Amino acid sequence: MTARVLDGLKIRDQLFLELKDEIARLATQGIRPGLAAVLVGENSASRLYVKSKIAACEQLGLASWLHTPPVSITTAELLKLIDDLNCDNNVDGILVQLPLSKQVDTKAVLEAVDPAKDVDGFHPVSLGRLVSGRDGLVACTPAGCMEILRRNEIPIEGANAVVLGRSDIVGKPMALLLMHANATVTICHSKTRDLPNVVRRAEIVVAAMGKAGYVQADWLKAGSAVIDVGTNKITDTGEAESLLKNFPLRLAKFREKGSVLIGDVHPDAINTAGSLTPVPGGVGPMTITMLMSNTVKAARLRRAKTSAKAAL
Ligand code: NAP
Repeated sequence: MTARVLDGLKIRDQLFLELKDEIARLATQGIRPGLAAVLVGENSASRLYVKSKIAACEQLGLASWLHTPPVSITTAELLKLIDDLNCDNNVDGILVQLPLSKQVDTKAVLEAVDPAKDVDGFHPVSLGRLVSGRDGLVACTPAGCMEILRRNEIPIEGANAVVLGRSDIVGKPMALLLMHANATVTICHSKTRDLPNVVRRAEIVVAAMGKAGYVQADWLKAGSAVIDVGTNKITDTGEAESLLKNFPLRLAKFREKGSVLIGDVHPDAINTAGSLTPVPGGVGPMTITMLMSNTVKAARLRRAKTSAKAAL
């Protein structure tokens, strides 16, 4: 049986419509949510990511600012820029695109962001809120995975969920979100023993390892929902031929283009899972969508608070 495809692009379009309504409501109160992006140096992948984030702001009518300090910037200079953005009332969200230059203390810079403007959800205060189950700004990729599960009505409460990967930006927050939604969560990492049998018990699998096609089709329980966070660019012909053996059209495209994006779950899983996010077109579009959602939410929470204080 072929798995149901959990289409991230469709959910992005739904969420954009909902966000447009909320942005229009905020406009009636004179509030235009705004995102400031900080892009250090000339990393071409980073430039592409930031460009698409700014384009999403423009599509939704959010204000956006792009700061592009040189690769030689010092930690002190970057902290000064973050402080200026913290103090600017028009800026609701601050996005520091990683990686920063070698000489910069990345942790110090991320921790300098006002938690009320932490739209990436990386600040220890945001993580603390998530751990204790309080409302706040949640890391975009795991928040997007939850939207995919909820909007496809995948049962979470009481389900056995396995999260593959324990990074601060994906695995850990994902496991916390699933736990708060009453799943029974197992977190796996590179030292986990007998991974296939751990995965076999799961009704929900979230794969965030950064290893192309690692989760084999026969590891998956029949009917399981699989969220594939991995985005691995494959350029090696032998690897592409082995992963896409049963997908001649994708293989032909690879031959034309010289590269293909493969998730952490083997493409053959389409024949064993109950439902599955495609790569590309699954989790990827949700990450930028949740960044937009966090920016609008930050505007609502912070400026509503400010006006409540002003009214006192
Ligand atoms: P990361 O920081 O490199 O973390 C990878 C995690 O996977 C680690 O916890 C590691 O375990 C675990 N791992 C590695 N090999 C494993 C194995 N053989 N068995 C079990 N666990 C293993 O990566 P990340 O930043 O979380 O990203 C993960 C993937 O998601 C990457 O492909 C990335 O490109 C993708 N991603 C996609 C989006 C999107 O928008 N679609 C956003 C973010 C990330 P240890 O802790 O033991 O080392």
